Amino acid sequence: MTITAYPSLENTPMKLLLSLVLILPTLLATSLYSSAAEARILVSNKPLALIAAATYPAEQIDILVPDGMSPHDYSLRPSDIGKIRQAEKILWAGDHVEPFLAKFAAEASDTEESKTEWLDATELMQEMKLYGSDPHVWLSPELAIAISERIAAWNPAVKEADIAQAKKDHQVFATELTNLVASSKAQLAPLKGSGFFVFHQAYDYWFQAIDIEQLGAFTLSPERKPGVRHIQTMRNQLQNNEVSCILSEPQFSPALINTVVNGLTINQGELDPLAGSSVLTKSAYIDWLSDMTNTLARCLKSEPK
Ligand SMILES: [Zn+2]
Repeated sequence: MTITAYPSLENTPMKLLLSLVLILPTLLATSLYSSAAEARILVSNKPLALIAAATYPAEQIDILVPDGMSPHDYSLRPSDIGKIRQAEKILWAGDHVEPFLAKFAAEASDTEESKTEWLDATELMQEMKLYGSDPHVWLSPELAIAISERIAAWNPAVKEADIAQAKKDHQVFATELTNLVASSKAQLAPLKGSGFFVFHQAYDYWFQAIDIEQLGAFTLSPERKPGVRHIQTMRNQLQNNEVSCILSEPQFSPALINTVVNGLTINQGELDPLAGSSVLTKSAYIDWLSDMTNTLARCLKSEPK
């Protein structure tokens, strides 16, 4: 701050007053900036939060859908509504997979002076022309890299160095994820001949990226009960030894799987498309996908017990 532009006011009470008037906005701005440095963001689900944590301070990320619950049939609690109303920035998966947020997002886009910035992962994926039929968009490595770039720009840092760090974090994330896709592909290539079932159709983007395909899924979406014919087809595939491995999910009861497997010996593993046991760190998203590759490789490789 400089007041040398007003030399005629040297040492006068007027100068004091003027400096106060001049300093005040600076003080205000400073305090605004320091509160911006504490800017919490709201992320609808855990996997998207893992992507955000690659470039955003983990302790400033709030997650809406708690661990152990599925976004498919989640309904908001009163405390969630407060969080949504207060949030300045929200990352979510879009109204197809997270209908409980649709009303708020639509409201925000209808209101011009809405202070909340919404980042819709599905919309971004459609813009990138990557969207397929699987709504679990957070399992697309390409989309994850694009989201991470956006979130790096959300960084609340005040200092130039911190902003540069967020950009660097994004670069590291993009490189490591690209490397993981390549190494997962190589790791699973020799096992591509083994069939496997997943619990629900949630992994299309990840499996496409690493060039592997499931033989079947018990259900398209967990709320929908599979038909008798579908179950019979799966049972036949198991009996014909077409399937080396079945992957269940922690959120859902294995009753359905047990009914189909009944009496047969098949390897089993567990994949969690919601990353329920992950902790937010810079590498959490990559660690989670890497664990999925390892689980898949183990389950496909080992002899049935
Ligand atoms: Zn799902």
